[in-house]
Amino acid sequence: MRVYSFPRGGIFFEDSTVPSRNTSETAFLPALSVIPMIQHTGGRARPLVSVGDAVREGMLIGKGQGMGSANIHAAVPGRVVRTVSWTSTDGLINDGLVIHMEGSFEKLGKSEEVFPWTDLSPSALQRLISDLGIVEMEGTGRPIADILSALPSAGEPYTLVVRCVFDDPWLAADYVLCRERLKAVVEGSVIMAHAVKADRIVFAFSHREKDIGSAFLAEAENYNVPASLVLTGSRYPQRNRRELELVLRNYEKKEETELGSLLILGPATLAAVHDAVKLKRPILDRYVAVGGSAVKNPRVMKVRIGTRIGELFAECGGFIDKPARIAIGSPLLGRTVTDLDEPVIKPSYAVFAMLDSQVGGSVPRNCISCGECRAVCPVGLDPEELFKRISGKKSGLKKSGAPDILNECHGCGCCEIVCPSRLPLSSVILDATVRGK
Ligand code: SF4
Ligand code: SF4
Repeated sequence: MRVYSFPRGGIFFEDSTVPSRNTSETAFLPALSVIPMIQHTGGRARPLVSVGDAVREGMLIGKGQGMGSANIHAAVPGRVVRTVSWTSTDGLINDGLVIHMEGSFEKLGKSEEVFPWTDLSPSALQRLISDLGIVEMEGTGRPIADILSALPSAGEPYTLVVRCVFDDPWLAADYVLCRERLKAVVEGSVIMAHAVKADRIVFAFSHREKDIGSAFLAEAENYNVPASLVLTGSRYPQRNRRELELVLRNYEKKEETELGSLLILGPATLAAVHDAVKLKRPILDRYVAVGGSAVKNPRVMKVRIGTRIGELFAECGGFIDKPARIAIGSPLLGRTVTDLDEPVIKPSYAVFAMLDSQVGGSVPRNCISCGECRAVCPVGLDPEELFKRISGKKSGLKKSGAPDILNECHGCGCCEIVCPSRLPLSSVILDATVRGK
């Protein structure tokens, strides 16, 4: 089968400190959960309960407030014992409810009722997905309701793309999910295709995971929806929207087919869609890869939303030595955290702690003009030049806001990770882009 790859730049990203992709373990239920009112792109959800109130597992406790916001549910039963607020390292002010676990679980350990969905209209499916607070289970957690509202008008051809492109070893949690919940991901894809009236489903798999892709395709044959498998390269950032679209357009040309507009969603999001529609279950837990050189026993864990990351590290045997960096996400794009009480939220697919030897020293040095950053940029930008201009070391960009060239950067982080001088290239470029908007 042909393998489609984006044309230039990128890196083969390997990391021996990620957990094994063989299996997952279920994390301990947290005695205290911290449920943030922002687990999505936009503004905070409005809390519907107060200190002292009892909450049930899966109960709606935060109401989404317009675009970018999504409903929030209690991940465990218990009582709200206090509220907390904090400022994350990226300057976002968040607040949350602290729930002391008590009482009985309505879903955990019970055989859950299954609801038929095939007779539901697309708008009824979309309403369920929105009411149960389903967001993209990665990135900034874009609410699915917002994504759907931006779709092309009815009648135009388009394709649901199930993005299973493993170009970053820190996607281990998604990989394990694809194996352990294959049927749920495929049915979630079919549900989503019905909800948005997509003409077909494309399972986009990196070629090393071809066998799982073939199993997805075989499972999809149980449903009356056209589906195909497209194999991609595994060079990072193959899974980025721009690079994935490039290869799908290439596939379209080679196969003489028409995909139309593309709705691209990941497997964890589609499993959440399945649970929302088929089980009427909000996002109560998620798969998380916990690792890094500072962690004794890295592993992929199934974790309740609201579990504090310090508890996950403790469950993995604690730290070998003092970490130099702790972050949520992948080392390529992750957000550094300084407080081990920060909780796992809907988009938290990985959590890592690195020793200084893995971070490679945190003090930036002078550019040595090696050209590595230019060589890996998939867009063909000159990150060194942009960085120097933004930092004021050269005239040009600083006074003129964010010119088009900055908007071309999609923040893949390739330039920054290869820079031997440890210059924060993509961080500075992205920051300038956001400030200029
Ligand atoms: S972060 Fe931007 S400038 Fe750096 S490699 Fe990626 S696209 Fe290029
Ligand atoms: S990779 Fe770093 S050191 Fe090399 S040219 Fe780019 S900015 Fe300079």
